Amino acid sequence: TPRVENTPPALVYNTVEEIDQLVQELRTQTNTQQFRHSLAKRREQLAAFFRMIDENQRAWEEAIWKDVRKGNVECQMVEILPSLREIGGAIKHLDSWTKDTKPSKELTFMTCSLTVRKEPMGMVLLVGPWNYPLRLLAKPLAGALAAGNTVVIKPSEISCHTTALMARLINQYMDPTVVQVVVGGVEETTALLTHRFDHIFFTGSSHVGRVVMRAASEHLTSVTLELGGKSPTLLFPDAHLRISIQRIMWGKFINAGQSCVAPDYLICTQEHLPQVVDTFRQVIEEFYGTEPKSSKDYGRIINVRNFQRLLGLVKSNSACEMPIGKLEQWDESDLYIPPTVLTNVQHSDAIMREEIFGPILPILTMDTAEEMVTFINQFDHPLALYVFSNDRKTIDYVISHTTSGGVCVNDVGLQVESITTPFGGVGPSGIGSYNGQYTFEAFTHDRTVVGNSFVVPFDKVLQLRYPPYEGQGNTW
Ligand code: NAD
Repeated sequence: TPRVENTPPALVYNTVEEIDQLVQELRTQTNTQQFRHSLAKRREQLAAFFRMIDENQRAWEEAIWKDVRKGNVECQMVEILPSLREIGGAIKHLDSWTKDTKPSKELTFMTCSLTVRKEPMGMVLLVGPWNYPLRLLAKPLAGALAAGNTVVIKPSEISCHTTALMARLINQYMDPTVVQVVVGGVEETTALLTHRFDHIFFTGSSHVGRVVMRAASEHLTSVTLELGGKSPTLLFPDAHLRISIQRIMWGKFINAGQSCVAPDYLICTQEHLPQVVDTFRQVIEEFYGTEPKSSKDYGRIINVRNFQRLLGLVKSNSACEMPIGKLEQWDESDLYIPPTVLTNVQHSDAIMREEIFGPILPILTMDTAEEMVTFINQFDHPLALYVFSNDRKTIDYVISHTTSGGVCVNDVGLQVESITTPFGGVGPSGIGSYNGQYTFEAFTHDRTVVGNSFVVPFDKVLQLRYPPYEGQGNTW
């Protein structure tokens, strides 16, 4: 498909005045508290949101194809179905998630009632990236609505087709007193961030994550930051080689390597290396044929800036070899980079200093699990850690001597898909987590309500807390 398809639609950016007005109006709506008090209204909005995705599946597939060249099967697998599952789960569990909890009591609280109310934060802001432009806003929006918040959404201006569709459909399907979309880039997001929100949920780069957190700190607004990083993959010789490489390949090259949880680099033993590279070669051919460029299942780099960044990373590596993928095959006019494997990579190479976010897999060699763990621990805590081994002791050793947002053993990316477990980073790879009920919790304030009674005999005991304390053992 020629690249011309990616000609951006005329995205109409909101002006700063429109943004100010839209936020103020939503704040007024939030203060009326109508949405937070009605579970029926929340259910209605969740159902409308479900329909908004479900009834327009073809339009989503087309927009996402134009933005990031995801084929429709892949789009269903990683964008549409995960979004619908999250919204469906929120509808199904709304009653149980929103129920007050009645905690157990210590003896001193016997006369009291203790309740923890599940309350909305208020008006929240969701800022999304371009690489999974639907799911990374749909999933948090499901939790934010279930929790009773009003929401401003700021999709990425880079995934322009999906953003245009999202803005149109949200206006068509959702209640404007509950959800509003802001269309824009850096300037518009900066304007948005000057306003006081009650929570900000940001998915994107660590660099912009810092910008968002700094802006949030002006209002002491809480944040969830879903960021990136260099996710290591350790492949031990006792792992099933073929299955391991298939899974690593899938996780690395899906979306042309532009996934936050993509294996960033691989470590195996020197002895194992020739077999590992050979298997990569075979599996790449099985997945994408001898000409990945003409495969419908192989993506493209999002823009020239990122294409050039990746070229710079590869060229600046002094002595590395490229057993798979050739520089002559790179095609800027089509934003195409072939599946690429680098060997003989030095720890100090530029490609080991930043998140790659492209279809390039450096392989480093080390002989022992201890060496691998020491190496990984020099870097920021990653979003994901992948370990491929058949030996329980090796796996436990690696997990217990490292830290990461999540771990996936003998597979790639499953830690993101399970909606009964939290997904998120740690330290520089993120703050907070989400998925299923965890998404609801991310947008919920646990408000403790303690109630005491006026039962006079009980009050006799409580009188002990009042001064004067003389005669009660006060020795000062
Ligand atoms: P990005 O940080 O450049 O942009 C994200 C959003 O921030 C966009 O909506 C953009 O308009 C806005 N933005 C950009 N610059 C800004 C600025 N200076 N001030 C205010 N807002 C600004 O990220 P991206 O390029 O869209 O996405 C790629 C990054 O996101 C990678 O680092 C990847 O690892 C990370 N990511 C993380 C997850 C996760 O779940 N943890 C998921 C996907 C992507």
